[in-house]
Amino acid sequence: KGKRAFIAGVADDNGYGWAIAKSLAAAGAEILVGTWVPALNIFESSLRRGKFDDSRILPDGSLMEITKVYPLDAVFDNPEDVPEDIKANKRYAGSSNWTVQEVAESVKKDFGNIDILVHSLANGPEVIKPLLETSRRGYLAALSASSYSYVSLLKHFVPIMNPGGSSISLTYIASERIIPGYGGGMSSAKAALESDTRVLAFEAGRKHKIRVNTISAGPLRSRAAKAIGFIDMMIDYSLANAPLQKELSAEEVGNTAAFLASPLASAITGACYIR
Ligand code: NAD
Repeated sequence: KGKRAFIAGVADDNGYGWAIAKSLAAAGAEILVGTWVPALNIFESSLRRGKFDDSRILPDGSLMEITKVYPLDAVFDNPEDVPEDIKANKRYAGSSNWTVQEVAESVKKDFGNIDILVHSLANGPEVIKPLLETSRRGYLAALSASSYSYVSLLKHFVPIMNPGGSSISLTYIASERIIPGYGGGMSSAKAALESDTRVLAFEAGRKHKIRVNTISAGPLRSRAAKAIGFIDMMIDYSLANAPLQKELSAEEVGNTAAFLASPLASAITGACYIR
């Protein structure tokens, strides 16, 4: 039987989440996505209006189907966590059940279980500030949205993941090497994500036979990357210095994720894949 995947962090057709969804769909998986609440309306209406149809084409010519789009804000674990100003915010008030715990409950109610969990989201409100100028609030916000969000997703989804399931996140080399410009605590957030990958691989592996890996991806001109401001420079740098002198495509990262989620990778866990 085909596998079912939940991919958190898809809000357009330019990012890694979309590319991973496509590679998993091409391999026969059913696709569910979690979309950041403030981006939900535009994503759903663009999908409906056919704006993504060209990017939905799979290698066999068919169109990727997204079975269901769930609103999600991964910085909130349950309704008690949501502050009043967010509750009252028009963009949030229009949707419901978008905290991590509620999304996992909804997926359980709708589908019973999943096999693949993908975390393809990050946010650092002070990313353009050097670490030395980052506020405590900005630093903690980066960790909350980019690192703990993964701990929380896995924690809430593991109970509905079939044994042998696979979980994947996306990280960036700024965790290990200094990349000036990747500020606001985002380098710290990626370091935490990579360390957590090893710990979570141990815990989720022992307890539920779930594999946990992360992909350290090269630079891609996504919406999030453009907001950081130096993406073209990073692409030029990779082109000049990487062993394969070509621009990385999102599809190549998608295919790495599909491999890691497949039985071909059945003994690979706790790893950081560099692509
Ligand atoms: P993207 O903009 O396509 O994806 C980021 C997504 O995160 C967006 O859809 C956004 O709506 C969502 N998001 C932000 N805060 C959220 C929250 N609180 N709850 C739920 N969703 C939230 O950009 P991308 O570059 O494809 O990013 C995907 C992942 O890839 C991120 O972890 C990023 O750090 C990582 N990555 C990107 C690059 C790159 O060059 N683009 C390189 C290495 C790693």
